[in-house]
Amino acid sequence: MKTGRRGFVKTLGAASLVMASGKQLLGANRMPVKSSKMKLSFRPYDLKLKHTFTVAEYSRDTTPVVLTEIVFDGITGYGEASLPPYLGESQHSVMEFLKKVDLSRFSTPFLLEDIHEYLDGLAPGNRAAKASVDIALHDLVGKLADKPLYRLWGLDPEKTPVTSFTIGIDKPDVVREKTLEAKGFKVLKVKLGRGNDKEMINTVRSVTDVPIYVDVNQGWSDKHKALEMIYWLKDQGVVFVEQPLPKENIDDMAWLTEHSPLPTVADEAFQRLPDVARFKGVYSGINVKLMKSTGLLEAHKMITVARALGMKVMIGCMTETSCAVSAAAQLSPLADWADLDGNLLISNDVFDGMKVINGKVTLNDLPGIGVKKI
Ligand code: MG
Repeated sequence: MKTGRRGFVKTLGAASLVMASGKQLLGANRMPVKSSKMKLSFRPYDLKLKHTFTVAEYSRDTTPVVLTEIVFDGITGYGEASLPPYLGESQHSVMEFLKKVDLSRFSTPFLLEDIHEYLDGLAPGNRAAKASVDIALHDLVGKLADKPLYRLWGLDPEKTPVTSFTIGIDKPDVVREKTLEAKGFKVLKVKLGRGNDKEMINTVRSVTDVPIYVDVNQGWSDKHKALEMIYWLKDQGVVFVEQPLPKENIDDMAWLTEHSPLPTVADEAFQRLPDVARFKGVYSGINVKLMKSTGLLEAHKMITVARALGMKVMIGCMTETSCAVSAAAQLSPLADWADLDGNLLISNDVFDGMKVINGKVTLNDLPGIGVKKI
């Protein structure tokens, strides 16, 4: 029976994973207990940042998160909602949402589509709260199948991209110090948009020659000045420019993308699945983050749609523990670019998971999202 089960799991793609019943995947040697119900629990946790984090709009020293657990059939799946203030969710709003979630109405965590429909029906928005349930469910699905998610999706763990390390906006001596600290990374992501753009890039370039991703966080307003700056950035070894203009400026953004010598990537402007098709021709690519997409189920669909439309795909994260970062890393073999450094920016991680080795996202063999609690 074991060989049969292995053969079955091996042939699973993303679609069949979603449709497969728990009973099929569990196989004969691990029958589900009929009375087993999914039980969701959660707690708030504050992440401490190693450095004050500054982007175009604000600075901060901590990031609030909510950690979730779903227990089913004696197995625990882990999830997380990360709550940077600009996304509009809080520990309070996440916990209020999660109190309404009753997973006992579903017979198995494999019913991912149905559970997502139920979560979206409970309340609009609450994307990080929904992601915290989705990640824990996917962790459970992988653990029940005894496979890492990337295996269930048919992905090659060798095809993970390098990940960037983020350098926030700061004074030159601090930027220089942070850049030196990041010397193990093959690419850096530099935040711009506060009026000292050339100083930031020149400071980083005084220390390293690695390629640079630029994130403006909506910090530029004039499309002509933006284009001029992008030409300059191209000469400095920049690879792409993320969210250069305010998210509302769709027409200016389409003009900029048409004229830009570098790809443009939507982040703040891009949230849910229907946005992908809407942004064809407006941006060159999308930055997929689990806290925006309501988790892995929709993130995977976003990547598929973007690919079909010929768009670039970046996979990113918030400041998060290794739980949510490792979950996103499972999808990273499908991405052109990765910015999965959220767990490296904090000093009080509570999970051990994906690693960055020689600058590359490195997946392990653990089942599910690939984490262990510390
Ligand atoms: Mg961004």
